[in-house]
Amino acid sequence: MKSLFRQIQPSVTMALDAQARAIAAAGKDIINLTAGQVDLPMPQAGKEAILKALAADRTGYVPAVGSPEVKAAIRAHMGWTEGEVLISAGAKPLLNAAVACLCGPGDEVLLPAPCYTSYPEMVCLAGAEPIIVLGDPEHDFIVSGESLEQHVTDRTKAIILNNPVNPTGAVFSLDDLEEIGRVCRKHDLYLIADEVYSSFVYEGELVSLYDFPDLRDRLILVNSASKTYAMAGLRLGYCVAPAPMARAMGAYLSHAVGCPCSLSEQAALAVLQTDGDYIEIFHQRRDSLCQALSSIEGLTVKKNAGAFYLWLSVAKWDDDVSFCRKLLDQQGVALTPGSAFCCPGYIRLAYTKDISLLLEAAERIKRFIERNYSSASGVSS
Ligand code: PMP
Repeated sequence: MKSLFRQIQPSVTMALDAQARAIAAAGKDIINLTAGQVDLPMPQAGKEAILKALAADRTGYVPAVGSPEVKAAIRAHMGWTEGEVLISAGAKPLLNAAVACLCGPGDEVLLPAPCYTSYPEMVCLAGAEPIIVLGDPEHDFIVSGESLEQHVTDRTKAIILNNPVNPTGAVFSLDDLEEIGRVCRKHDLYLIADEVYSSFVYEGELVSLYDFPDLRDRLILVNSASKTYAMAGLRLGYCVAPAPMARAMGAYLSHAVGCPCSLSEQAALAVLQTDGDYIEIFHQRRDSLCQALSSIEGLTVKKNAGAFYLWLSVAKWDDDVSFCRKLLDQQGVALTPGSAFCCPGYIRLAYTKDISLLLEAAERIKRFIERNYSSASGVSS
């Protein structure tokens, strides 16, 4: 395997966010809708728990995959009755550990796409090959079991399934998940499930992959406090995995991460007692923003069912990277091109700002499209 020194690429979404912040720091009026993080305060109980733990000098190492009482609280809260619970510094290290423990050079991992920007790199970091399986644009890009199965080879080890989906905001139904579970059982694949947006579902409840008992022996289910409790910077993720897999992941994490942050663990214990409920605010944002954007001629706007992203096609106007670059230059609105999620032709808008800024962004996007792409501007649409 070649050295990673020249191969590894930084996270596109984090790089874009940094770029938009730098332009804003230089004094330009920027509305940055790139970041996938909740912009609201974490629950008060979590803040108090951190201060209390700090005053008690709880700043030493904790066990590599979390303190027993925190693991027990997470298990009870999530309803994870079987399997081992692991805690680490966010969902990302847990996902990396799962991939690294399952795959090596020559192996393949199926990635329903559009997909979270870090998945292909995580698979490459393990020396394995990401196999992108694009979903059906007519069905919210939800990938069917059948299309996944067409990509299974004797080298396929796992599927990484994100639900609700970043970047599309789509939510897999019970039937969709049953089909995918069937493929995993038939071909003896592991299912790495990323449900970090589980508390952001606008209609009904999320069907978790944990709800399928016959998948639990092949399921590594990852969640995190980052979105649910607005604690992204505190780095606290958790997962449940079958015991042998949990042992391997624990060993990996003990070397790669060390342990979770001792203060964040105490914050997690406290916030689990709250509802950490941001859904109503995001629901209102989604509806107001969609209404404002739907007045833009030629733009098809569909309300997302989960997460906090809108996924919009711009293919009839421009390629997605140029669209985002010009929009940032001309109107100071930062969005993420679909190419960052293995799906060019689209853009992702994270509605992680208050409604007045979102409406201002919609106004600027409208102006931008009218000036650059409407027939009156001389550019064909
Ligand atoms: N998975 C998905 C789908 C995400 O969108 C993100 C963050 N944007 C993560 C994982 C990383 O979560 P964490 O902050 O808990 O590492």
